[in-house]
Amino acid sequence: MDYYAVPIAKLVDEFQKLPGIGHKSAQRLAFHIINMPNEKVQRLANSILEAKQKTKYCSVCSNLTDVDPCLICSSASRDKSAICVVQEARDVVAMERTREFKGLYHVLHGAISPMQGIGPGDIRIKELLQRLGNGEVKEVILATNPNVEGEATAMYISKLIKPLGVKTTRIAHGIPVGGDLEYADEVTLAKAFEGRREI
Ligand SMILES: [Zn+2]
Repeated sequence: MDYYAVPIAKLVDEFQKLPGIGHKSAQRLAFHIINMPNEKVQRLANSILEAKQKTKYCSVCSNLTDVDPCLICSSASRDKSAICVVQEARDVVAMERTREFKGLYHVLHGAISPMQGIGPGDIRIKELLQRLGNGEVKEVILATNPNVEGEATAMYISKLIKPLGVKTTRIAHGIPVGGDLEYADEVTLAKAFEGRREI
């Protein structure tokens, strides 16, 4: 059992709850923070709180934003005839990095997964359909992850969209199957996007 002063033990414990941080890393971060000057610690703490408090979901695309509608939805230079559907807000960041796509996004905040009890009503599919009503959108690009849940979600959405007369495409499998969109490098993701097929 490691010995820590109680406040340090608490900090190590909190860091350990974060994704990708094991005990050793948590300990390193905690001790690093204790050795930082007060004002730097204050700035770090403030930016954590501020990121949490000032971030909300865009009322149009459900992406994370501090202004509503978000900068992409309200941009005059984006192509409003195409919507790229992704699972998570961090996937928007990955897509934007490729500079391949100039349209709008829709963030589902998850994927259909019967195993985990996540049904179509638990992710933002209804909100997507509402955006297709005015005839402005000509193509919906399904860029959900290339795993079982992502494929099932893409199939489910394409079945709902087809009757609306909107072209539905799926990004190609340049991305390794079972992989996450956010971990694909820019070139692979750009190629997958270019090679999208109608479904
Ligand atoms: Zn938006």
